[in-house]
Amino acid sequence: MSKPMRCDECGEKAVVAKVLETYAEDLDHDGRKYHVKVRDLPVFECAACGEIEMDTDAAGRLYDALRDAVGIMPAAEIRRRRKELHLTQEAMASLLGVAVSTLSRWETGAQMQQRCMDNMLRAFFDVPALRAFLIRRSGRVDVVAVGGVSAVDPSRSHDSLDVQWSGDRSTG
Ligand SMILES: [Zn+2]
Repeated sequence: MSKPMRCDECGEKAVVAKVLETYAEDLDHDGRKYHVKVRDLPVFECAACGEIEMDTDAAGRLYDALRDAVGIMPAAEIRRRRKELHLTQEAMASLLGVAVSTLSRWETGAQMQQRCMDNMLRAFFDVPALRAFLIRRSGRVDVVAVGGVSAVDPSRSHDSLDVQWSGDRSTG
């Protein structure tokens, strides 16, 4: 066992590592409160004031539980499904119109996507026609080259996409 650490909250040297059988907290998301419960959570607890600190792994588990309660896509699933499409974070962020750092935080679980963006992510992964639309709209010709045919609806020929791209270029 390591020596107690100093508490950021009360200043006492009384913070020790322990595993809580159940940890529950009310967390805010999109202006609503969600009651989130996690089992066997390793934390750092101050014996003097009761303040609880978590490392990133523990906080990640808490946020996964919150994602579950809210009903939005788990962080690891976003990463997995992006990789299935052979898209880089940069390419996918550009198609969605979000910052790369934002997509990166969604994938690590450091930040939760709002419900409208969760809907967008699900549509992006499940609806090839939406991906094809966003690729055309972004003018990211390289995404098709990098992402391969899996990034666009395989039922559509590249020819039809090329036609629409050149149309976009001439109007822009
Ligand atoms: Zn304390």
